[in-house]
Amino acid sequence: MSDCIFCKIIRGEIPSEKVFENENVLAFKDIQPQAPVHILVIPKKHVESLAALSEEDMPLAVELLGVVNALAKEFHLTNGYRVVTNIGDDARQSVHHLHFHLLGGESLTDKMC
Ligand code: 5GP
Ligand code: ZN
Repeated sequence: MSDCIFCKIIRGEIPSEKVFENENVLAFKDIQPQAPVHILVIPKKHVESLAALSEEDMPLAVELLGVVNALAKEFHLTNGYRVVTNIGDDARQSVHHLHFHLLGGESLTDKMC
């Protein structure tokens, strides 16, 4: 979807602070961080949300979670971290391109993302 903000970030049309990139996955810092470490991990393929993942996307889902865990190590989140993905209106998903929030670096409050 070409007007999707995260697809624009993937294409480099909107700048972002990238922390990881490979053929399938991009990770970058959230523009409005809610914790000292707040990274978004996204597939390069446009998928609306976790709910829109198909059976054939499962290897991609596993790869995304692997990147989340690798970044948690790289950013030294040894005391714990939170992984959040919002799906749809009730969850207040604001960008309709699947993303995992990786949050940490302090004791996290209850409501976040
Ligand atoms: P959601 O509410 O959909 O779960 O999360 C969307 C996240 O994307 C928000 O935390 C928001 O700050 C972040 N975001 C929205 N636009 C941009 C952008 O242009 N650049 C970056 N780095 N983050 C963005
Ligand atoms: Zn997209």
